[in-house]
Amino acid sequence: MAWASSLNAFFKNFKRESKIIPEDTITLIEAYVAKNKLQNAVSVIENALKSIESAPLNIAVTGETGTGKSTFINALRGVGQEEEGAAPNGVVETTMRRIAYPHAKLQKVTIWDLPGIGSTNFPPESYLTEMKFNEYDFFIIISSTRFKENDAQLAKAIEMMGMNFYFVRTKIDNDLGNEQMSKPKTFNKEKVLMKIRDDCSEHLQEALFHEPPVFLVSNFHMSDYDFPKLETKLLEDLPAHKRHIFSLSLQSLTEATINYKRDSLKQKVFLEAVRAGTLASIPFGGMIMGELENLDETFNLYRSYFGLDDASLENYAKDFNMSVNDFKVHLRFPHLFAEGNDESLENKLSKYIKRISLAIGGPVATVIYYKRAYYLQNLFIDAAANDAIALLNKGLFEKEVGTYIPMPLEYWD
Ligand code: GDP
Repeated sequence: MAWASSLNAFFKNFKRESKIIPEDTITLIEAYVAKNKLQNAVSVIENALKSIESAPLNIAVTGETGTGKSTFINALRGVGQEEEGAAPNGVVETTMRRIAYPHAKLQKVTIWDLPGIGSTNFPPESYLTEMKFNEYDFFIIISSTRFKENDAQLAKAIEMMGMNFYFVRTKIDNDLGNEQMSKPKTFNKEKVLMKIRDDCSEHLQEALFHEPPVFLVSNFHMSDYDFPKLETKLLEDLPAHKRHIFSLSLQSLTEATINYKRDSLKQKVFLEAVRAGTLASIPFGGMIMGELENLDETFNLYRSYFGLDDASLENYAKDFNMSVNDFKVHLRFPHLFAEGNDESLENKLSKYIKRISLAIGGPVATVIYYKRAYYLQNLFIDAAANDAIALLNKGLFEKEVGTYIPMPLEYWD
């Protein structure tokens, strides 16, 4: 069966940290395929999809009052500080209990605000029991100065429980600004960052006997400093079936995160196509418009993952001082399926299929035999991801606005 023979080639396209099914599951599927036990392979895929779809993600964030914990939590959730439901800023902790905050777009993602261990006076083990430590996927320990002895002891206890923690040092923008102001002549950004990092690491080493990585971030600049590194590390460390939801939850817009989302969505769509009974071949032609209507909701979700939902487009348009409709002219995704386009959708689609098969080495094109929904979704994911990446470089985009005509399909990178 064509899809089976290209499975191997398909998964080779994705880096380890962006694979959404575990390596040994892929090996198992390949083994079944090699023995021509396709039904078994499909049921392994079905189970893998089930665990991806049902996987919740619970992130524990702990740190003392004033460290920027609430701002960090809101940043992870994609909720503005002034929006309804935001974790309140600058509130002195009076409760000993954890508070759950849902992600703005993904209901299975919950960020837990844990009171700082210092304010609870609990020893680490009781603190962890009290906070229901085994319900989280990982812990983030926040500080805005040096990490306190308390925090290091907490990390040690988390480690003993066999769980992961990550140290995050916030307000890096403040430190750099202050340093630049006080030493304008000798200021060296890298040196300042290194000094802060070393200071934190050394401090932690005293308690932990090893130097855990420390991520230096600014909650107001999520695409800068170590925020992207933190995201990559978390993706790497998470079990594969949780990577899909985590990558979609990422709020920072960088080329790396956009690509994680693209990779993750493409794998998901592929697995779904196999589950949906790819084996049936549906002849090309006709009916595409109806299929597009069915996919509309899915496309809206994809747009929101890439920061291209209507609200975001309105913000971009404002930035560029134009109407949303004028702004859309400069993007690719809004024109993909527009009627009256100079190139018919059928043509676009068959060109796209050829492109994919060239890139992947042939067989994938025949994988999901004429399963158009599969290709339509891929086409959309690529267009939206490319738009999101183009928008990262505002300067360049701005220069092109006015003269810019969305590139024909053949020139997509
Ligand atoms: P919490 O008490 O730990 O929840 O801290 P908040 O999130 O309320 O933040 C305390 C103060 O620090 C607020 O005025 C925030 O605006 C500010 N803040 C938080 N994170 C950062 C950051 O990364 N950089 C800067 N410059 N200020 C921050």
